[in-house]
Amino acid sequence: MIKGIFPIEKFEQLDTPFYYYDMELLRATLQAIKTETENRPFHVHYAVKANANSRLLREIASYGFGADCVSGNEILQALECGFPPEKIVFAGVGKSDKEIHIGLDNDIFCFNAESIPELEVINHLAGEKNKKARIALRVNPNVDARTHKYITTGLGENKFGINEEDLPATLEKMSGLSNLKMVGLHFHIGSQITDLSSFEDLCVKARKIQQWFLEQGIALPILNVGGGLGINYQHPNHFPLADFEAYFRLFKKHLMPEPGQKIYFELGRSIVAPCGSLISRVLFVKEGIQKNFLIVDGGMTDLIRPALYQAYHHIENLSSIEQNEPYDVVGPICESSDVFAEQRSINRAKRGDLIAIRSAGAYGESMASRYNCRDIPAAYYSDLL
Ligand SMILES: *Cc1c(COP(=O)(O)O)cnc(C)c1O
Repeated sequence: MIKGIFPIEKFEQLDTPFYYYDMELLRATLQAIKTETENRPFHVHYAVKANANSRLLREIASYGFGADCVSGNEILQALECGFPPEKIVFAGVGKSDKEIHIGLDNDIFCFNAESIPELEVINHLAGEKNKKARIALRVNPNVDARTHKYITTGLGENKFGINEEDLPATLEKMSGLSNLKMVGLHFHIGSQITDLSSFEDLCVKARKIQQWFLEQGIALPILNVGGGLGINYQHPNHFPLADFEAYFRLFKKHLMPEPGQKIYFELGRSIVAPCGSLISRVLFVKEGIQKNFLIVDGGMTDLIRPALYQAYHHIENLSSIEQNEPYDVVGPICESSDVFAEQRSINRAKRGDLIAIRSAGAYGESMASRYNCRDIPAAYYSDLL
């Protein structure tokens, strides 16, 4: 098994746990996306919720990408880190008045609106400021993302988006809301999608809905197909980049944009997950009856994905080249779900060894909590160590 390239001597000087970001890999990822999109009517808005770390945001903004935000504070963070307001979109089922004000006051590009009551409130608040708010309607496309149920968002009845059956009533309502300007449709079917046929289903559905709008005499300058492209968590060293080539080719082939129409993407995980690792130190090797536990100083407060969605992360012992042994890799938090991996084979470990939990750049640092009064993990970067 190849180990990732890590500056282990430098890590020895640092307090653990911490996030380590490989900036060369982030740049290679951003360049790959740029290459696939620059000669097409495609625009990528990075989903800030995947990781709002300001160093990463600045790097992503420098490639010309926009930001997809799901809270008022994410909008402020994106602006602070160099994303221009005309490249910011704002999604979310529950936007507070305060957050809508933030969007309006900063003239963001558009609100991805998810319900009639939300449209009414945005219309009202925009009217008070004598502004017109640009709106993309988030439609629930009823497409199966074939991923974990907690990260499926576009199937059947769920809290996200407007159901297709409700579109006529929504349009009718919008025609009376004079401070709104419809700019397009928005979809998002889920996350960590590796079976690309789900995106093909989305394209078919998006075209069908677009056709219905055309029949109502409404052209849509923008189709926003959301994010969700998955990465290979099993083999981060062999497959460090998501398959951007296949992903964008699929949309080119199956969405067939109208002349002048723009396709927006909101990638989060596939941009930042591969470049991040949670680096943690072995506190104790505890010998059980049937198995051995590797108790490490990082826990679910630093990286909650395994506890929250039974997510798999590749784990390496950076300090050992001894033979592999199976361990349950667990954190110190007082919760039984604070387990990174069960019966995972890694190089034989001892107290003080450094371990890397790989592909942790997305939904890792951004989901860290202070449960048990723990510190929020620090972040270090390959080019600043
Ligand atoms: C979370 C989210 C994304 C990003 O999803 P990834 O799986 O990280 O690519 C994009 N759009 C919306 C609306 C989201 O909620």
